[in-house]
Parts: sequence; structure tokens; C-alpha cells
Amino acid sequence: IYILGIESSCDDTAAAILHNGKILSNIVATQEVHKQYGGVVPELASRAHQQNIVPVIHQALASANIGKKDVSAIAFTRGPGLMGSLLVGTSFAKSLSLGLEIPLIEVNHMQAHILAHFIEEDGFKKPEFPFLALTISGGHTQIVKVSNYFDMEVIGETTDDAVGEAFDKSAKILGLPYPGGPLIDKYAQEGNPEAFPFPNPKVPDLNFSFSGFKTSVLYFVQKQTKENPDFVTENLKDICASIQFSIVKILMDKLKKAVKRTGINQIAIAGGVSANSGIRNALMEAEKKYGWNCFIPKFEYTTDNAAMIAIAGHYKYLEKDFSDFSITAQARYKF
Ligand code: ATP
Ligand code: FE
Repeated sequence: IYILGIESSCDDTAAAILHNGKILSNIVATQEVHKQYGGVVPELASRAHQQNIVPVIHQALASANIGKKDVSAIAFTRGPGLMGSLLVGTSFAKSLSLGLEIPLIEVNHMQAHILAHFIEEDGFKKPEFPFLALTISGGHTQIVKVSNYFDMEVIGETTDDAVGEAFDKSAKILGLPYPGGPLIDKYAQEGNPEAFPFPNPKVPDLNFSFSGFKTSVLYFVQKQTKENPDFVTENLKDICASIQFSIVKILMDKLKKAVKRTGINQIAIAGGVSANSGIRNALMEAEKKYGWNCFIPKFEYTTDNAAMIAIAGHYKYLEKDFSDFSITAQARYKF
């Protein structure tokens, strides 16, 4: 079975070829145009997707060394995401499926982030059901109870900003370019995580809140720079390490609560922020400390990619769960 996965929910145009659960190619065109605006500009994202989608798919086929006639089915991101971006991938997937007369498979982007753990990869173990997924990305922060490939239940989520936004907005306050999450991670490696404590907000149940976090970073930086205009440059590594340490603590505290509540101690992390070294280390420690069984994805399957869309499509293909041509993109798409 050859699945072509297409991802266009935000600002990455991506295509991948999956053969019986193994990735043959995984192409991502990251849109550079948004950097100068400090965030994704939806209108520009849709235009860039339209420009990139054909070349990216050609490249995915070429580097997998197959022709379009070999593809068994097309899996695409239906949502959630930016409407204009989703429309490009959805329309293209429908047309290609119609032209090639092969099945069309809609995929939920957030489920796909989780299902990336099921891509066949040497040296990576797959989680067993049921497990808990901590989905941490640019638009979401969720704890999901995963009972089967498509039997997922959100048992906790953010009530405002996503954790990726907390990273990116904190980075912006520090004057770092967008997306700042990876840069905070980079500087954090050489800083003191306990230099500047940031508060851990009290949020009921398994839910999160990050809007107060970014505000506390803003006030802290404003106060310090008033006393010393060079405060940020002089302390960048310590500030980044402290931000990362505090965010990871918020996530780990809720995970511990979720493990207690569900009795499930198999934990998988998913989404762009699962590339973060702080959360990765914290999970590896938790394996030793609490006896959890943790699953950490390969880097290329953390931020947006089409390999994860293809693997979700693969499991739907096995169940002949196909979409019809009246399907439309959905900006908000719960599962
Ligand atoms: P969603 O999946 O919720 O629709 P998205 O697709 O925009 O959102 P992803 O591509 O999954 O988000 O993740 C992007 C986010 O991950 C950004 O906020 C980015 O800063 C963050 N990120 C990536 N690498 C790291 C890292 N090493 N440390 C912290 N954050 C990171
Ligand atoms: Fe994503």
C-alpha cells in the first residue's frame, strides 16, 4: 500500500509517501514569508501553499522513486487549521484522487500528530493502547486518552493559549525571531533553569492556561529592563532556561495528575513542542522516577509534516474508511 499524505493546515506545505507503514519520502516546504511579520499571515500562507503544493508532491514522488500511478490512496489534512490553507490541500487532494481514480482519505491533523508514533522506524518502539498523549503544538495543548487509532478522547486542554504560543510569544518579548520556540530551547541548554522563577498557574482538572504565563514574562522583562536596559542580552540564556523549565513543569504536573486519574502510565508526546529538549528530558527522567513508559517521536515527525498524515491515512485505508467528494475543509475540527 502506497499512501500519499498531504499537509497544508498552517504554514508548511508538506507531502510524504508511506509504503506499508514505512516512510519513503517526507518533504516539507516551510514558508519563509511569515518571518518578517513575526507570525503566520493567513492570506500569505494560502498563496504560498498554492505555489508549493505541486512541486512538493512531485518531489515526494520522485524521492520515493515511484510514479503517481503507484499511489493507492491520498490522505489529506481536513482540519483543524487555517481555512485558506486547508482549502488548498483539500481541493488538491480531491482533484488528484478524482484524476487518478483512487480513494480519498480525510485526516484530523491533531490525531495525525499522535499517530506519527506508529510510523515504522528502526529504534523506535510504538505505544500500546491505551496510552496518554500529550499533544503540544502551536495551536493546541491537550492530554488525550488514546484507546485505539481513531478512538481518542481529550481529557484536558488549554483554556486559552497553546504551549507553542507561550514559547513563541515569550521569545518575541525577548526579541527573538518567529518561531521562537526552538531558539528558547537552544539558549536554554546553556542557562540556569532556576535563575528566574515564573509562576505555575492554578488551573482546575487536567486543563492548562498559558495566557498568564506570557504576561508574567512580559512584566518581568519590562521591570528588569527599566533597571538595566541590557538585561535581556546579558541574561538571555538564564531567562530562556527559566522559561523552558517553568513550562515543562506545568506540563509535567498535569501529566502526573492524568496518570493518577486514569491509571495509564504509557505516555506519548506529540506536536511541534515535543521537539523540545526540556520536555524530552523530563519524560526520560519520569521513566526512571515513576516507572512510566514514555514515547518520544523522531524530530522530523514533531512539527508539521505529511508523514503523520500518511500514517493516519494508512490505518483508515486498512479499514476502508474513505471520504467522498463532497467533503470540505474544517478550520475547527474536534474528534
Ligand atoms: P497545531 O498542530 O496545533 O495546528 P501547528 O501545526 O502550527 O499547530 P506545530 O507545527 O505542531 O504547530 O508546532 C509548532 C510549534 O512548535 C511552534 O510554536 C514552535 O515554536 C514549537 N516548537 C518547535 N520546536 C520547539 C522546541 N525545540 N522547543 C519549543 N517549542 C518548539
Ligand atoms: Fe501541527
